[in-house]
Amino acid sequence: MKDSVFISDLHLLPGESDAQKLFMRFADDVASGADQLYILGDFLEVWWGDDDPAEGYQPLFDRLQKLATTDNTDVFLMHGNRDFMIGQALAERCGFTLIDDPCPFTLGKNNALLMHGDTLCTDDIEYQQFRKMVRDPLWQQEVMKKTLEERYQLAKQFRDDSKQSISNKAEDIMDVNNEEVERVFDEHDVDLIIHGHTHRPAIHDYTINGRDRKRVVLGDWHEHALYARFSDTSQSVELIDFR
Ligand code: MN
Repeated sequence: MKDSVFISDLHLLPGESDAQKLFMRFADDVASGADQLYILGDFLEVWWGDDDPAEGYQPLFDRLQKLATTDNTDVFLMHGNRDFMIGQALAERCGFTLIDDPCPFTLGKNNALLMHGDTLCTDDIEYQQFRKMVRDPLWQQEVMKKTLEERYQLAKQFRDDSKQSISNKAEDIMDVNNEEVERVFDEHDVDLIIHGHTHRPAIHDYTINGRDRKRVVLGDWHEHALYARFSDTSQSVELIDFR
């Protein structure tokens, strides 16, 4: 049986925590038995450059490495809005492959698209402008000239600003924009989109241009610990609460 599992939005902090322990258990009980593990963004709550020794993350990184080697699970990671500075050096340190957002691929008999999900939230114009700035390679090059400490100061400032602005935003602004969802289904000609980011786990059904399509939204790992599993045998995706 060929199975792929999908997770996102674990928002793991450095240092031992319940969340890290939960991921370790997920790795042992679920991911190690799968053929592929896809991490669709915001795996880490903070990451500001691969030159960070990040000792508090080392057990986590070791477990990822073990998945890719001993456990024989291919691990793929996509950037989220928290960990977009993850680079090739960390990928090698942990044994995963970085994938683009969006990432079109074939899942069984489906044309699928993997995304973090933040680009679907087009109503949040302020956030989209911020995203454009921080994803610019030139901006990132400049930031990498700063010391790690300065980068963490900057991160803290971004987090404080974001908390401030989120408290002023209507709930639905931070969800996906439906027209954008339909546009993306159409543009990439896919039957299935899997994404995270909104922390609103669900499986949504659509009929667009006469074709049935599905949008699977992964959950964050604060209130639940949801992952999606695609089974090659049943050709279907389900959301499973791991906790
Ligand atoms: Mn996110």
